[in-house]
Amino acid sequence: MLIKNQIYEAQITDYTAEGQGVAHIEGCAVFIPNAIAGERVRVRIEKAQKTWAAGKIVELLEKSPHRRNRECPVAKLCGGCDFWHMDYEEETRLKAQRVKDCLNRLGGENLEEIPILVAPTYLGYRNKAQYPVAQKKGRAYAGFFRAGTHTVVENPRCRILPEQTDAVKDIVIDYVNQFRIPVYDEVAHTGLLRHIYVRRGVVSGQILVCLVINGQKLPRWEELVKSLKQVPGFTTLVLSENTRKGNAILGDTFHTLYGPGYIEDTLCGLTFRLSPRSFYQVNHHQAQRLYQAAIDLAEISKSDTVLDLYCGVGTITLAMAAAAGQVIGVEVIPQAVEDAKANAERNGIENAQFFCGDAGQAALKLEQDGVRPDVVVVDPPRKGLNADTIEALSRMAPKRIVYVSCDPATLARDVALLKERGYTLQTALATDLFPRCAHVESIVLLCKTSQE
Ligand code: SAH
Repeated sequence: MLIKNQIYEAQITDYTAEGQGVAHIEGCAVFIPNAIAGERVRVRIEKAQKTWAAGKIVELLEKSPHRRNRECPVAKLCGGCDFWHMDYEEETRLKAQRVKDCLNRLGGENLEEIPILVAPTYLGYRNKAQYPVAQKKGRAYAGFFRAGTHTVVENPRCRILPEQTDAVKDIVIDYVNQFRIPVYDEVAHTGLLRHIYVRRGVVSGQILVCLVINGQKLPRWEELVKSLKQVPGFTTLVLSENTRKGNAILGDTFHTLYGPGYIEDTLCGLTFRLSPRSFYQVNHHQAQRLYQAAIDLAEISKSDTVLDLYCGVGTITLAMAAAAGQVIGVEVIPQAVEDAKANAERNGIENAQFFCGDAGQAALKLEQDGVRPDVVVVDPPRKGLNADTIEALSRMAPKRIVYVSCDPATLARDVALLKERGYTLQTALATDLFPRCAHVESIVLLCKTSQE
């Protein structure tokens, strides 16, 4: 076992899923933030367990050629991003490697390399921000949590957000300070304003502002609307009532104070209505490339039925509708299903149906009703597919399954399960939707090979 506070020399060989460097010292895996593969470091052990330890670099003995000065001044403190200390080339290399390693180790594959769709820019790409609000010496401010804590780190200008989003945040904070709106205190569960949520359509330029409050009413909101109108594109102000304790950001109740309560944006040539509660990929450019990859892999023909599980506002479902006979989307969030139905109508798409429910249960029900899709698209949250969904896929036996994933470990686990049910992995592709952050998106095609 390594000794706490002792300093060791180590070679960084790999990365964790969270983007920390990994070294092995005396057979023990040591996780070291801000380290780059290939570097030699002196590391102080801060936590020591039997099989693993956590440490901090005290000296860089051999620097990686991929090391960069951080473009973001608060990068070391802010938990929002993970990779400002390295160049984008190394970041995308490690992301592709992570997908490959997961598919090989957990998915039983033997892939040599996986291509990655790299982003054209890592600046200003995020179309959504959720700033927690805090208070210091009687003054409100907003920023992002420090990694592993609920301490809010102030960042006047977040590099991965467009400037309009930060401008909205500044206006809300000015209003809060001017009208002495009480800031939420999560320990005491007192105060009002919890989060500032901003979503901006990249193509439409429309901006939705949603304030999450621990209460029902926001005092003097008309004054806030007046100020927000200075930001070009400001379209709507919504309140989300969240009076619960805990980490969930949005509450269940929404009140529109100004505008329609949603924004619109264009994606894959279609117009989408987006409510605050609805999922929408944060990187518009890369999402279009991901969805195009999904369409290409699906190889849909005019007589095909396509089932899109975890469909959100129907982005992939509707982007596939033109090529298919019929498309069916399933989504658990009612507001997203409402958006999806409105989106089909808005775009004149008549061969799409949407159901609200759990993907697995809805798929089993569709299967019982005799629905036999030719292609199934799944795009689940990080926990991946549940047993019902795997069972329904197995019974429906589509020719192709296109699996879009935001966690390569659960993707690989599910790939292994689907292989046991007669599928083979045909193609795997990583896509960088979150430059500077450790999350990696990937997409795979599984084809039916046997009747098991
Ligand atoms: N394919 C869409 C959305 C993907 S995000 C897009 O790319 O825009 C995953 C979606 O799954 C979210 O909209 C989330 O609300 C939904 N979801 C989460 N758990 C679910 C479940 N058990 N059943 C159905 N949908 C679920």
